[in-house]
Amino acid sequence: MSHFTELKDVLATYLDDEKIELIHQAYLIAEKAHEGQMRRSGDPYITHPVAVATILAHMHLDHESIMAALMHDVLEDTQVDKVYLTARFGPQIADLVDGVSKLTQIQFESRAEAQAENFRKMLLAMVRDIRVILVKLADRLHNMRTLKNMPPKKRRRIAKETLEIYAPIANRLGMHAFRIEFEDLGFAALYPMRYRILSAAVKKARGNRREIINEIKKSLKGTLTQHNIPQAQVFGRQKHLYGIYRKMKVRHASFSEIMDVYAFRIIVDTSDDCYRALGSVHALYKPIPERFKDYIAIPKANGYQSLHTTLFGPYGVPIEIQIRTLAMDHIAENGIAAHWLYKSPDSAIGDAQLKAREWLKGLLELQQSTGNSLEFIENVKIDLFPEDVYVFTPKGDIIELRRGATAVDFAYAIHSDIGNTCVAAKVERRFAPLSMPLSNGQTVEIVTAPGARPNAAWLNFVTTARAKSCIRHYLKTQKRSAAISLGKELLEKTFENSPQKYKKIKTDVLQDIVKSLHYKSTEELYEAIGLGNQVAAVVASKIHEKLHGECDVIVGDASVPMAIKGTEGMVVTYAECCKPVPGDAIVGFLRAGRGIEVHREQCNNISHLRQDLNRSMVMCWEKHIHGEFKTDIKVRVLNQRWVLAQLAGAISDAEANIDNIIVDQGDGQLFTVNLTIMVRDRTHLDHVMRRIAAIKVVDSVERV
Ligand code: MN
Repeated sequence: MSHFTELKDVLATYLDDEKIELIHQAYLIAEKAHEGQMRRSGDPYITHPVAVATILAHMHLDHESIMAALMHDVLEDTQVDKVYLTARFGPQIADLVDGVSKLTQIQFESRAEAQAENFRKMLLAMVRDIRVILVKLADRLHNMRTLKNMPPKKRRRIAKETLEIYAPIANRLGMHAFRIEFEDLGFAALYPMRYRILSAAVKKARGNRREIINEIKKSLKGTLTQHNIPQAQVFGRQKHLYGIYRKMKVRHASFSEIMDVYAFRIIVDTSDDCYRALGSVHALYKPIPERFKDYIAIPKANGYQSLHTTLFGPYGVPIEIQIRTLAMDHIAENGIAAHWLYKSPDSAIGDAQLKAREWLKGLLELQQSTGNSLEFIENVKIDLFPEDVYVFTPKGDIIELRRGATAVDFAYAIHSDIGNTCVAAKVERRFAPLSMPLSNGQTVEIVTAPGARPNAAWLNFVTTARAKSCIRHYLKTQKRSAAISLGKELLEKTFENSPQKYKKIKTDVLQDIVKSLHYKSTEELYEAIGLGNQVAAVVASKIHEKLHGECDVIVGDASVPMAIKGTEGMVVTYAECCKPVPGDAIVGFLRAGRGIEVHREQCNNISHLRQDLNRSMVMCWEKHIHGEFKTDIKVRVLNQRWVLAQLAGAISDAEANIDNIIVDQGDGQLFTVNLTIMVRDRTHLDHVMRRIAAIKVVDSVERV
């Protein structure tokens, strides 16, 4: 008997003969392609694609998905190729099959990289055709069901991947039934001991609680009938094992704490009935304040809709209740797959699809802005755990963010330009720190300024993948372009005092140099010089050699200082040890990979560095520098109350800001205050110090 027979019976319940015949053709190709191949269980290989197809057939997926499911492994493991599939079944089917196939042609450096790249390929394919992920999930589900045949190490790896990626994807797509099975099978494979112990404990606890469950169920039924919602159905709900395990682990809840919560689901006809049912159960048992959630008015990101409430039940036991319509229940169980299973005109089902598509579109954007697949998969993982908060724009639009998201995440969720130029945030009309996590229902307004830029420090607190990748992307481009212009300047400066003043280096000469030093472009050469990875003088001597056929090493004349504008960005940094400000005599050092580090000339840390003429240079400040510069001062004061307030007052009177204060223990009479302040330049600093010196209790003030 053919392996096809059983599948055919399921297909016959919802497809016509013509489509079933097409599926049969696909089956024959797969059967032939896998001929002689065995699964680890000893079964013929073809049983696997047939099982995958059967899972999808039970979900009433269209004939193309079933065909793709039957042929999902032929591209990887057999002689059949995409060209053949296209000729035979058309591009749609060929693309579907290709979308679920792993990349096998490319050699990867590590398993992590291979996994990430395969995952990225699948996501991109599923953006084009959402059925790809349904086939992939069914494939994974059957592999999980037959996992026991794998060697232990592989078993654990697959189980871990399922828990980390496939279960969250199923969750993100609203496919609850898949998710539950993924999690329980994954849990059992990854932690067999814990699974067994927990499973036995749950079984026992459920037996003990049967009576009270029936009692509560009866009361709920009673009150619903009494309030004229007699068609309502009440179900007792059981938490799945992995859910219980996770609660114990993450929330440190005890086993009895979790088991002593009684959970029920009420299914009614219309969403209007949902709210009436809610009223009636609240009349029966008192609700626990703050535990009520209205996912009907604001559906979850995966389209999930329901009312949630928790009640104080008899004997003080908490009762969790979910109330929803049958259509909402279908979506809650099947998510985007509900579309195929219930070809109903219900708009809620369409919404779930729309939400899924929006999410996929977001992933596509994410992928375009991330450099490598490992970074991408990290970002996607962040995105897959949607503990969401909902906040409002000043116009009242709802923005959905991850729990813990900040105003900066909000700004990037609106538009990357808003994120890139945001300087401040108002939460409920009051200024709030950009780093403050937002909570549900807040109205958030972003203040932007032209010319403002993202700050690298934001990466420490933003939580959304989108904000992270936008900021990283900005910083990368920014650093690169700053390095290019600095490198160009450094190279040109090298020629300034040479006998031949090449104001402009000829392009063809430079091209040759670029090639001989193995750079891809002139820009890349400049970038390397600007970052301190390539010495400008070496490049200069090569140019000289090229032009004159001799090899003089030209070293930039140290007496011509290089000017700092203060706007170089990430390739010019000010040394933490001596904190120079405009007006100080300064020197610069090229630090490999980081650009120029500016020190004060009298800094103690630099004497040895100055020997290296290729890397050190005399620098000066441009005339009009805007910006604030950190510097340290030390103040000796009489030990007296209010002295810190007076110091702060004097500094702010002089229009400077305090960055940090450290107070040293004194000798009883005098003590030392070390201040880091922000000033414009030397003159400003002198002004601040005079102001401080004028305070009566100040004994002395000096720059560190
Ligand atoms: Mn497979």
